[in-house]
Amino acid sequence: MQVWSFASGSDGNCYLVESEGTSLLVECGRPYSQIRDLLDGAGLSFDDLSGIVLTHAHGDHSRSARYLSQTHRVPIYASRGTLGALALEDIALGKPLESGKTYVVGQMDLRPFAVPHDCREPLGFRFESGSGRAAIATDLGWVPSNVAKHFRDVDLLIVEANYDPHLLHTGTYPYFLKQRVSGTYGHLSNAAAGEAIAACRDRPPSAVWLAHLSEHNNSPKHALQTVNRILRRSGLGHVQIKTTHHRRSTLRWTSAVARERQLPLFA
Ligand SMILES: [Zn+2]
Ligand SMILES: [Zn+2]
Repeated sequence: MQVWSFASGSDGNCYLVESEGTSLLVECGRPYSQIRDLLDGAGLSFDDLSGIVLTHAHGDHSRSARYLSQTHRVPIYASRGTLGALALEDIALGKPLESGKTYVVGQMDLRPFAVPHDCREPLGFRFESGSGRAAIATDLGWVPSNVAKHFRDVDLLIVEANYDPHLLHTGTYPYFLKQRVSGTYGHLSNAAAGEAIAACRDRPPSAVWLAHLSEHNNSPKHALQTVNRILRRSGLGHVQIKTTHHRRSTLRWTSAVARERQLPLFA
């Protein structure tokens, strides 16, 4: 399994999860031409995609999904609430998902789970294949137990670390927006992300990408300091933590099994 972070934040989100020839574009929140170039950098085109997976309908996650899906006949896997907001002309392209069920897409199992966010039926996802397990949860106000259980025993966890409370409350956002961001249907703080990882105890993810960092109310330094402090305190200082970039493809992760499989090619 391989995962790329193409873009992450309120200016647009886009990731790619690939396993044994099944390629899922997770989020579609950057302009169409940029996603084409980002995919090209990973050696893929739109026609190689097995599907588009959307967590929710906010524009920073869904902006190009309708056009891309209809132009290249790529199905969209999302909740009914998300699909309804997209208003696809060809409803056969929409593949409705329900939280708690498991769906087989090519070589991957897709397990959606409900997250608390101010949108209709927002989801997070766990991806499993013969070569790896990854989970993504961004845009959530807090981490309920049905979400937390998917953070355990994964090889890679992509989790939101949206804001530092001090930067948010002393920053320039209007009061209502500060309330929205920090509310139970808003976004996850650095400390909340750290506590959620620490709660995995003896079954933590092997690697973590902190994602959807606010450009106004956070920085990679703040996020890493807070999360690493919590993990060290919890005896999980060995967990590898990185931060995603807002607009650049900076992170690529390959599962250990996939790396082993690649080895004979170079022997
Ligand atoms: Zn978002
Ligand atoms: Zn959102």
